[in-house]
Order: sequence, then C-alpha cells, then structure tokens
Amino acid sequence: MSLLTVKGLGKSFGGVKAVDGIDFSVGPGELLALIGPNGAGKSTTFNMVNGQILADRGSIELAGQELIGMRPREIWRLGVGRTFQIAETFESLTVCENVQMALISADRQLYSFFKRASRHARDRALALLDLVGMLDQADRSSSELAYADVKRVELAIALANSPRLLLMDEPTAGMAPGERNALMALTKQLVTDQGIAVLFTEHSMDVVFAYADRIIVLARGRLIAEGTPAQIRDNPKVQEVYFGT
Ligand code: ADP
Ligand code: MG
Repeated sequence: MSLLTVKGLGKSFGGVKAVDGIDFSVGPGELLALIGPNGAGKSTTFNMVNGQILADRGSIELAGQELIGMRPREIWRLGVGRTFQIAETFESLTVCENVQMALISADRQLYSFFKRASRHARDRALALLDLVGMLDQADRSSSELAYADVKRVELAIALANSPRLLLMDEPTAGMAPGERNALMALTKQLVTDQGIAVLFTEHSMDVVFAYADRIIVLARGRLIAEGTPAQIRDNPKVQEVYFGT
C-alpha cells in the first residue's frame, strides 16, 4: 500500500499551468526522485503536498487521509517533514540546541514543561545528531558550521518530528560532489533503517541514478515518465526533454 497517493493534482498561476493533472504515489521506505527541467512544476508539487500552496484540483492522500485544505502545520503534525533548498539554522544556538528546539516544538507536552523538557530533549537531540554524523559537533555554535554540515543538522531537525514522509527540495544544492554523495548515502540509510519515505528533487543525474529507487519525470506540469533509474535512463521522452535528441 502506498503512503502518499496523488491523483489529478493541478495548479495554475494566472494562465500558466504549473502542475497539470499529475498522478503518482510514494511507498513506505521508498526513495523517490522527482526530476524535470526548470519550471517543470517540481517545487509547486512539493508546496502543495506540504500545504504551502493550495491545489486547484485533484487529491493528495497520506495513508488515506486527504491533505488538500489542511494547514502546513497540520500536515507537518501528520508526519510530513521537509528540508529546504537553502538550509538555515539559528546561528546564535549550538548545533544541539537547534535540534532540541525542533524536538520541543514537535511535542506539545514537552513544550509546556520547558525546563525539564530541554534536558530530556538534549538526550534525544544527541541521538539524532549521532544518526546524521554530527555528534562530535553538538556543542559548537551553528554559526561556525560548514554548509554541508548545516544540511546535516537540517536533516536532524526534520527527523525530530518523526516524519513518515520527508520532502527534500534539492537537498544537495550548493554542495561539492563528495558531500553530495555523503548526504545521499545518509538519506538512503534513513530510508532503509527507519522506513521513512523520501520524495526529493535533484538536478544532478548522477545523484538521481545512484540513489533513487524510482524516478518520476515532470515536463511543463505533466508527468512524462516513471520508472527505475535504468528505465528512465533509456526512455526516449526523457532524453528528448533533457538532451533534445
Ligand atoms: P520547478 O521547481 O520544476 O523548477 P516550479 O514549480 O517552481 O518549477 O514552477 C512551475 C511553473 O510555475 C513555472 O512556469 C513558474 O514560473 C510558475 N510559477 C511557480 N510559482 C509561481 C508563482 N508563485 N506565481 C506565478 N507563477 C509561478
Ligand atoms: Mg524548484
């Protein structure tokens, strides 16, 4: 059974059909890449799934529950996490405090017992930082971090909400090739170990082909292909969109 089921999803801006009736699903524990040229509708799709943009038509179901019409915060509470193309942390806090903040705001009960909570949250934050390979930097100021490490902290922050589905819009943007591979290997590990489903967009075909379980391809708001990396690599429609051949 799929975790996320999208049917007939559409959104226009003025006369532009940014997303023009797409269907796809994401299974539990699946790493699904959403690719396509600039302006294809990838970010608009993400923004509809997490409730930042209201869809014009179609449905988006998370484990059978309709998300369209819900506020971003409600969708987040249902377990849809998100990281951003440009990662940011609170620079005045340490790495660990950043993750503690996320844990406390994910948990209302903790929030109302803030003092006690922040101690408890520290242990959980350290566990999350360990998971993303940042335990040794927990007590540094986040203003001192390299960008690739900010991305790791952002991932720990997203995990603080125990998401079932994680949306990652260009997670490796602005990273060197070695760092990209490290972040994607880590993401793949999370998918495998924790059964989190991940939907990500990505410009680098090398990254997409190396890590995605399955790929969907958008062009001008329409879904033009879907398949395994091998199927997508050989798909003539995809080659036409990307290479004009
Ligand atoms: P991608 O992320 O694949 O590059 P987008 O979803 O950002 O594509 O954009 C899809 C199309 O919708 C583009 O033509 C873009 O110019 C248009 N678009 C996106 N957001 C808006 C907006 N807020 N207002 C007007 N047009 C938009
Ligand atoms: Mg985009």
